[in-house]
Amino acid sequence: MDFDFTPEERAFRTQVRDFIASNLDPQVQAKLAEHRSLTRDEIVAWQRTLDGRNWATPSWPAAWGGPGFTPVQRYIFFDELHQAPAPEPLSFNVAMIGPVIATFGTDAQKRRFLPRIRRLDDWWCQGFSEPGAGSDLASLKASARRDGEHYVVNGSKIWQGMAHYADWMFTLVRTDPTATKQAGISMLLIDLRLPGVEVRPIVTMDGRHEVNAVFLDEVRVPVDCRVGEENGGWAITKFLLGNERTGIARVGMSRHILRRARTLAQQRIASGGECLADDPVFRQAAAALEIELHALEITQMRLIAEADAHSGTPDPRSSILKIRGTQLRQQASELMLSAAGPSALAAAGEFQAFADGQWPAQAPWSTTVAPVYLSLRAASIYGGSTEVQKNILAKTVLGL
Ligand SMILES: Cc1cc2nc3c(=O)[nH]c(=O)nc-3n(C[C@H](O)[C@H](O)[C@H](O)COP(=O)(O)OP(=O)(O)OC[C@H]3O[C@@H](n4cnc5c(N)ncnc54)[C@H](O)[C@@H]3O)c2cc1C
Repeated sequence: MDFDFTPEERAFRTQVRDFIASNLDPQVQAKLAEHRSLTRDEIVAWQRTLDGRNWATPSWPAAWGGPGFTPVQRYIFFDELHQAPAPEPLSFNVAMIGPVIATFGTDAQKRRFLPRIRRLDDWWCQGFSEPGAGSDLASLKASARRDGEHYVVNGSKIWQGMAHYADWMFTLVRTDPTATKQAGISMLLIDLRLPGVEVRPIVTMDGRHEVNAVFLDEVRVPVDCRVGEENGGWAITKFLLGNERTGIARVGMSRHILRRARTLAQQRIASGGECLADDPVFRQAAAALEIELHALEITQMRLIAEADAHSGTPDPRSSILKIRGTQLRQQASELMLSAAGPSALAAAGEFQAFADGQWPAQAPWSTTVAPVYLSLRAASIYGGSTEVQKNILAKTVLGL
């Protein structure tokens, strides 16, 4: 198998790189490079810049108005965004609910939502998990009872990423409590401005506010905001979660963290007067990580090449990419932590400023290192936990 990019693919990479360099606000890039949170406006502006180039929906086929990238182009596109670093198109919009509406929605839903999804006129969040339903999603309890042309929704959801920025939430509710678990679930699109919706912040251990709990109390959702058939939500959920896992290895992001750790190690002088970058233990750890990232990239290219040959349906082996990609990003953040040493311990006030998104322009780099390390602990939970991915591999790939 040939893992080299073709001349056309290499030219495409240059095109993406040049586009990012000419169009991304340097302040946004600097914030991402230091792992500081972006504002809603910054994310929306970049999505619209990408839309101007028809790159806001990289996974959409040309038939839906997407760029019609090949799997390799899609890989290159995300890799360049990650390495720049530049924001990804908002995945809740373009990787999750957009393809769902394009595939399962009515014509009226397509006309109403798809153009607004791609331009981020509406910001979407994912309302799937509940306090008692995460890995075992089908045991969800939020309910919807039919009342004329509305569903009346009650229940609570948890861990909704960026729901405090969102206008809409795609969610799963139980519409038939008598059916077996998966059989009684429907997907509803809920306008978060409706009466009875409450979004409450959850501040995680890295000090950031990115996730939320969403409470639904007698929320009246029009029936035309149901996607697919009543009680037919589970098949749509499997389709959506399959898309969520694509591009999940994020090798480019790990490379960016590793590059940063190496630069920082050059600035750090240990007690013996030696530069950390010359320390054999640090160098060995950095080299080992680089090799592992290369191996993961090759694995990813193999899966992409095979997916290309077999019609592009999600491959259960993408769980390998999720597990290994997460482990390596976590390792990269550990290396950066060791490069920062004691200066990674931000003072409480600085930590709060970081959480509030009001990081001063001249902040020392090292104070953003610990929050990155802490926030990446969650990467082995969201998007399907490591243990659950291993179960998928055992069942579908190893046949155990
Ligand atoms: C930062 C973050 C962002 C998130 N964003 C969103 C979002 O936007 N929208 C949304 O709906 N949800 C979101 N989630 C929720 C996420 O999908 C769930 O946390 C995840 O599915 C795990 O579910 P749980 O938290 O209920 O843990 P549980 O499912 O209770 O798991 C607890 C532990 O048990 C293990 N485990 C569970 N089942 C098995 C099994 N069968 N075999 C072996 N081990 C098992 C798990 O791996 C885990 O270690 C987010 C979570 C986090 C942390």
